[in-house]
Order: sequence, then structure tokens, then C-alpha cells
Amino acid sequence: MKSAQSAKSADRLNPSVWHDRAYAPPVAAYLHIPFCRRRCFYCDFPISVIGDRRDGSNSLGVQTYVDQLCREIAATPNQGRSLETIFFGGGTPSLLTAAQIVRLLEMLDRQFGIAATAEISIELDPGTFDRAKLATIAAAGVNRVSLGVQTFDDRLLQAIGRSHTADEIDQAIELLQSGLIENFSLDLMAGLPHQTAEDWDRTLDRAIAIAPPHLSYYDLIVEPGTVFDRYYQPGADPLPSEAAAAEMYRRAADRLTANRYDHYEISNYAQPGYACRHNLTYWQNQTYYGLGLGATSYVNGQRVARPRRRDAYGDWLDRYVESGVAWVDTVEVEAGDGDRSGVGVGDAGITDGDGD
Ligand code: SF4
Repeated sequence: MKSAQSAKSADRLNPSVWHDRAYAPPVAAYLHIPFCRRRCFYCDFPISVIGDRRDGSNSLGVQTYVDQLCREIAATPNQGRSLETIFFGGGTPSLLTAAQIVRLLEMLDRQFGIAATAEISIELDPGTFDRAKLATIAAAGVNRVSLGVQTFDDRLLQAIGRSHTADEIDQAIELLQSGLIENFSLDLMAGLPHQTAEDWDRTLDRAIAIAPPHLSYYDLIVEPGTVFDRYYQPGADPLPSEAAAAEMYRRAADRLTANRYDHYEISNYAQPGYACRHNLTYWQNQTYYGLGLGATSYVNGQRVARPRRRDAYGDWLDRYVESGVAWVDTVEVEAGDGDRSGVGVGDAGITDGDGD
């Protein structure tokens, strides 16, 4: 009987099948940063809550995790091509210090190489970065920001458990528009409890007036085990009905496309030339390195989902560093698998990461 390995080797020799793409050396890397100040009421992502007074400068947990991530990068075989896209997702990557972000970039460069034209994105949350941090990471190569706004309305921000305020959103946007990193995206959410069609129109008005190069918009999904799961039924008051949520989606598509945004993917809109190259990696079923807690990689035809708990990830990492084999939770995939990465780009449970 032919082993799975020998069948895989035969596939690899056939240039006409999907395996060519599945075995192409990755040029994309996703890093999961699993820390947040608090857990939003709709969130089921793999994160640790560290509170309002902690960040990468004073949390041993964060520092230990950055060390782990560096070990994982160093243990991951270079498949032969430099990185063309990097995405720091979470969680809240802006809870890392600038020095920790720079250290991770240096590790990636040392291990894989980073192309001179690479798109390097990071998710930032309002209230977790300042001009100095932005300037330092921009100087290190970060050239794209995804800002987790969700809504500009303090009442709705509180209703979904976000840790930032509308004022902090204003300050964050002012910083981004000051020219340090001009390529930025706003992440928005619709279908929130008590959110009306008028509220959503105001959100779109404001976003369009800001004119970011890129916008992501996600519907709230009530995920099992979240705070919202205890209180709300999808489609039932105070959540918008299915028809109302669909109308919000249509309204966003109409208004954004009328304002020169290309609706290039289900949840994503971009001004000409600003589609997220990293996001397209997932949508085009390309290979990518996935690094860190809960992240999924897609290398050599295999998707490998890392453990979602810190202790289990630590054990996994020890075994990986020792053996060089990513041995747990390996998922073989077939052509056309729609997986985008266990945790990747986006927010609101539709994709993964967080979009903030
Ligand atoms: S939604 Fe984003 S910011 Fe909120 S807890 Fe989840 S990962 Fe953190």
C-alpha cells in the first residue's frame, strides 16, 4: 500500500495540480500576540487578559512569550524565499513594547530574510500606542497599521466590552494621519447590541470622512462560551434581526464602493493599490508561516494548528525545538480548502485574529 508520504511526493512532481501552490516556499508570516487588556464580550480568540496597567514593559508573561516566539522563529526551517508580507495579529500587538516588536522583526529577518518591498502590518488598539512607539516601529520597517475601532460611539464601545474610548480613537487616527505610517486600515463592526441603522450610517459617515486607505467590516457573531453567548440570541433583540444585519452589510458595500473603495474580499475594502497583500495570501490559498500561540501555519502542504493554551503551547514549542517537527494538531488539507489561518487577519470572529 502506498504511504501518504509517497503519494504526497508523487503529487509534488506533477506541476499541473494544486500541490504546486501548497508546496511553494512561503513568503508570508503571521505572528500571534495573545494579550489584551480585557476580553471583549464577543471574543473567543486565544488570548491572555493582562489588565489596564500591564504591557510588554512590565509583564513577565509578555516577555516570556516574546522569548518563546523568538525560539519558534529560530526553529522554523527557512524554505528558501524572503518574506514579502508579515502580519502581527492578536490579541493586541500594540501591548508589546517597540523594542519587542523590533526584536521579532530582527529574528524574522535573520531566519527568513525580509524583502525590501515587504508589507509589514500590525494591529494596533487605540489607547495602547503613542508617537514614540509608532515612530520606532515605522523605522524598523512596519509600514501598515490595522486599527481596531469597531465603532466611534462610546455607548456601543461599552456595550461590547472594548477597552478604548471614542476619544482614544480620535487620538490614534490623528497619530496615523500625521504621516508616520500612512497606509492604515480601520476595523469596524456591525450587528452590535442596540445598534440601529442610523448608528451604522453614522459609523460609515465618519469612516468615509477619515478616508483610510483600507477598511474592514465584520458582523458580530455570537460565539459559544463568550459573554454575549450567555445573554443574547443571534437575530433577537437587542441584536439586529438577520434582515437588519444584511441591510447593514448592503449599506456598507454601497456606500464604500460609491466612495472609490474596491470591495476586494468579503469583509475588506481598499482604495486603489491598498488591498492587504497579506490578507490575499489566505484568500489565494498560498502558503504561509504561522507563529505563536493558536496560530496555524501552511507549509509543505500541511496546515499545523498550534495549541491555544499557554502551557500547551510551551510544551509544543519544547518538542518542536528539540525535534524540528511540528507534531501536534496537524491537519492535512485538500485543494480549495478555505482555511485562512487559525488566527490571522480580521476581527469579530469571522476570520480569526482580531483586527485590532
Ligand atoms: S476582540 Fe480583539 S481586543 Fe477584544 S479581547 Fe478579543 S482579541 Fe482582544
